[in-house]
Amino acid sequence: MFYALHSVFVFMFGTIFGSFFNVCIYRLPLEESVVAPPSHCPKCNHPIRWYDNIPILSFIFLRAKCRDCGTKISIRYPVIELITGLGFLWMWIIYGLSVQAFVGVFLFSCLLIATVVDIDHQIIPDEVSLGGLVVGLILSFIFPAIHAQQIWWKGGVQGLVGALAGGGIIYITGVVGDFVFKKESMGGGDVKLLAMIGSIVGWQNVLLVFFLAPVLAVPLGLYLKFVKHEEVLPFGPFISVAGWIAFLWGEPIIYWYLNGMRFS
Ligand SMILES: [Zn+2]
Repeated sequence: MFYALHSVFVFMFGTIFGSFFNVCIYRLPLEESVVAPPSHCPKCNHPIRWYDNIPILSFIFLRAKCRDCGTKISIRYPVIELITGLGFLWMWIIYGLSVQAFVGVFLFSCLLIATVVDIDHQIIPDEVSLGGLVVGLILSFIFPAIHAQQIWWKGGVQGLVGALAGGGIIYITGVVGDFVFKKESMGGGDVKLLAMIGSIVGWQNVLLVFFLAPVLAVPLGLYLKFVKHEEVLPFGPFISVAGWIAFLWGEPIIYWYLNGMRFS
């Protein structure tokens, strides 16, 4: 009973953050402040009343329409809130109230914002990638346990090595790709995003992300190219999904892969 109550609370707490992430997703690519002015309808500019700004529920009560001008509200607002709430709940269920859960929630949030903004605008905001990298490095020093270390500076070094490994390998790939294909193949946003992920998951896991992301991207890339005849495929969402997989299951995947090779 208590557990169920806690779960509901954690979920609701997450949806409030999701509501803020909606603001970030909308405003960061436009270089607007995420704190001021308060949320308003993009069409009629009327400020949104507090009781119309309740995550998920307000969308349902308003029947997906602005109270003032009747403009349709996109389904993605409650969807982002729902996903964020579930992400918080997920971390709380597997890690409890712990540093690992906090780090997981932080990474999940960064990857979610990066994914949606990259799909919309083909960019990844520096606030998420570089800002996330700084936070990731600070967390590595404060909580060396996230890199399976006990001493603060060893955790920090692991975070740094992870960031350099992630950013470095994709940067070098980009340079080689530009040389081979004679056109820009990898965006700078991807470099910074992978560096951020590396600072949190460490160098072994970030290499897994580097190899896993293209595997995830290829099927959709081929589909878009040959069925929809679209060339542009943002890579950030695949890096993000691979980063999340590596955060959750990196160690068993790497163990399975290395042992599979050894015994086959
Ligand atoms: Zn309106």
